[in-house]
Amino acid sequence: MERRSFVSGAGMAGILAAGVAPAAHAQATLRWRIASSFPKSLDTIHGAADVFAKKVGELSGGKFQISVHAAGELMPALGIVDGVQNGTVEMGHTVPYYYFGKNEAFAIGAAIPFGMNSRQTTAWMMHGGGRKLMNDFYAQYNIVSMAGGNTGAQMGGWFRKEVKTPADIKGLKFRIGGFAGRVIERMGGVPQNIPGGEIYQALEKGTIDAAEWVGPYDDLKLGFFKVAPFYYYPGWWEGGPEVDFFLNKKAYDGLSAEYKAMLEAASAYAHVDMQAKYDALNPTALKQLVAQKVKVVPFPQSVLDASYKAAMAVYGELGAKNPDWKRIYGAYRAFQKDQVLWFRFAEARYDSFMQTVKL
Ligand code: CA
Repeated sequence: MERRSFVSGAGMAGILAAGVAPAAHAQATLRWRIASSFPKSLDTIHGAADVFAKKVGELSGGKFQISVHAAGELMPALGIVDGVQNGTVEMGHTVPYYYFGKNEAFAIGAAIPFGMNSRQTTAWMMHGGGRKLMNDFYAQYNIVSMAGGNTGAQMGGWFRKEVKTPADIKGLKFRIGGFAGRVIERMGGVPQNIPGGEIYQALEKGTIDAAEWVGPYDDLKLGFFKVAPFYYYPGWWEGGPEVDFFLNKKAYDGLSAEYKAMLEAASAYAHVDMQAKYDALNPTALKQLVAQKVKVVPFPQSVLDASYKAAMAVYGELGAKNPDWKRIYGAYRAFQKDQVLWFRFAEARYDSFMQTVKL
């Protein structure tokens, strides 16, 4: 008798819970944490996570609170995949190519040498099947990705000596981010993995010969112009690197449809906001650098050609041994081919004309 009433009572509670759960869940107060790969001082890159968290707070009427933690606060700068994968944090904000040591296919989620520019990357992710391909790949790490910003094409970095021919790359100790080091290595260079805060000193002491970081706005802050006079462009390894939010899949799957939609909206907003901020801030910084007598020089055609050749050789080898790379890279390159075909008409012609007009 007692048992029966217990069972029927539980049944009633179950029905009630099922009936009210969705509405109650949508309004539940949630607290999440984002571990960032970046220091707070980089207001552009780190700032995108702040913009994202603020937007989610506003959209949810303050009910979905997300705190942002700078590199090192909760986990090492490059520990985001591990931290999100094992659920230490619900989210991370990072650049996928940092993790190419786990699997080279991570790099395609951010940027690969001679890859797409920022507009093309976003087009691939949103409307070219890229996000789905990358998320299918990230699923083996319990990760769901969302766009979290783009820097636009980066500069090629700071060199103590001029680079006149591909031979000048040989033996060059070059601080370069992520997967691109594989191509530098192929060219006879010596890629160096040095955290942002230590680059200046290494360049000043001559421990390294060159260093790339991002572009005028961030580079000016780090003061590289004082120790390396040649500022090369373009950073052919980062034509439009995407920064991502990585979400723990279980945490994401447990969200209400409303909260999922808020995260998506905030991601799209933060993604555009970062690129806009860089585009707005870089010109002034570049002018300040030129005023400091920085020599802003393009990589010679022969260096770009040799770099391209080295990159294609690396990709050929990867395709033969990494099935994830082969599948995702194949789709990426096919999309890029059409993008380059289209961009050379209206966009390129318009840009090149406007760049010759005296405003
Ligand atoms: Ca870079």
